[in-house]
Amino acid sequence: MNKKKESALKVNKGIKQPPSVNHDAVKKLQQKRKQAYSVSQYVEGITKGDRSILSQAITLIESSLPKHQIIAQEIIAKCLPYSGNSIRIGITGVPGVGKSTFIEAIGKQITSTGGQLAVLAIDPSSERSKGSILGDKTRMEDLAIDKNAYIRPSPSAGSLGGVARKTRETVVLCEAAGFDTIFIETVGVGQSETAVHSMVDFFLLLMLAGAGDELQGMKRGIMEMADAIAINKAEGDNINKANLAKVQYQNALHLFPQKKSNWIPKATTCSAISNKGIIDIWNMIKDYKTHTQDNNYFKNNRREQSKYWMYETINDNLRFHFYNNSDIINKLKLLEGKVLVGEISSFYAAKILIDDYFNLK
Ligand code: GDP
Repeated sequence: MNKKKESALKVNKGIKQPPSVNHDAVKKLQQKRKQAYSVSQYVEGITKGDRSILSQAITLIESSLPKHQIIAQEIIAKCLPYSGNSIRIGITGVPGVGKSTFIEAIGKQITSTGGQLAVLAIDPSSERSKGSILGDKTRMEDLAIDKNAYIRPSPSAGSLGGVARKTRETVVLCEAAGFDTIFIETVGVGQSETAVHSMVDFFLLLMLAGAGDELQGMKRGIMEMADAIAINKAEGDNINKANLAKVQYQNALHLFPQKKSNWIPKATTCSAISNKGIIDIWNMIKDYKTHTQDNNYFKNNRREQSKYWMYETINDNLRFHFYNNSDIINKLKLLEGKVLVGEISSFYAAKILIDDYFNLK
């Protein structure tokens, strides 16, 4: 017997294997990725409503690379004349209140009547904790496949100010792409409401009934910003409690000073899951738009917001450059140590650093 032939370890004559990596395909992919559009190609694509180009331009806005930022700013500047024709709606509420279910329900209402909806989010926690918004669960499944809707998750990197500013810039591009309704969602647990409030026309607070004193746990400041409070999950056994909460919130809203818009904020109930009260909220938002356009608040408020974002951007950039200056980084630690042991005052340390920074420039 030929032992060699029986061996399980027989080595066959090799045949030439195709490379495990398809270099041609990789090259093509790399070329495609590198394929940078010119600013005017971006603008043309965006204004034609090309989703893919819009998404790539938003990625430039979100990038921290200076060369991307330069292109992004040019695109924004060129899109600005095509922007503004929308209603911008902020929506907040604690995790689990039903924000994404609500946006899906009202969003379907909007898109089924021909509206073009963009949904953006501000979630400064998203880098650390994978986010309170847009986590691993699939959200807004219907809207995600709706050709009249565009969903963009929160930019993840950076400070709240940075994340918010990027979203503010993204609004411009979405409007230039033809979206006439912009939702900006945020979690009702931090500072992000103020940022959202300063970039929207209408601010909606979602709440739940029950859980003891209705007004506990909700920061007054957030309630004061709201143009409407909707008590969600108002169905079945929960209806009575929701109606009670509605009255309590309505009373609480009356205690705040009158809004500059002269709009009287409303409390209402809804059930996002069973699509109840959703159309009423949409009609209310449309009433608000008419009301504030008639009394010019709509336009004036947007002007004020633009001014606000100019200063926010200056502050953000100054802070970034200061803390990323290598000389300052070195001196900061040293002076911090001196302040900690009481060798110099906080104010003097700050003065030294700031004087140094401006002399270095
Ligand atoms: P988010 O964290 O605020 O975005 O909340 P979700 O939209 O993810 O909703 C949290 C949970 O509440 C999910 O299980 C939803 O199905 C449920 N939910 C949302 N809206 C309603 C509603 O109107 N009624 C009831 N019963 N459940 C709802």
